[in-house]
Amino acid sequence: MRCPRCGSIQDKVLESRQNPSGTSIRRRRECLSCGYRYTSYEKIEEKPLKVIKRDGRREPFDLVKLEGGLQKSFEKRNISQNAIEQILNEVEDEAALKAGNKREISSRDLGEMILSKLYSIDPVAYVRFASVYRMFDDVDQFLAEIEKLSNKH
Ligand SMILES: [Zn+2]
Repeated sequence: MRCPRCGSIQDKVLESRQNPSGTSIRRRRECLSCGYRYTSYEKIEEKPLKVIKRDGRREPFDLVKLEGGLQKSFEKRNISQNAIEQILNEVEDEAALKAGNKREISSRDLGEMILSKLYSIDPVAYVRFASVYRMFDDVDQFLAEIEKLSNKH
């Protein structure tokens, strides 16, 4: 895989981990040219997971957007990138289970799922996520707002 830092395609896999439902594998990689470490995800190609918004529109479940929201909630908190990836993996896994064969989950259910995880991990991140999320009552709106805040930096 191409190194995000130097562009070399020579890398080695340090660690491979499968999620509990066996639908994705996450690999920690190290660039052999510059030593940079990064993560790749391998997934079964299947019907994409959709999030039903409050107004009934469907949007693709977006892990990158969600990671942005989590990074913001954990800003200046003592948490590793690994731990954040772990949360993302778990949320994706649980969302897929809850979505079932229809592959759809409501934005509210998704938000509550994330909140219940944050609650047990870091109360500050929980409050940050909750304060904005509950105000919007929609995880997509919340994530859009988080993006706006991040862009101001
Ligand atoms: Zn590199």
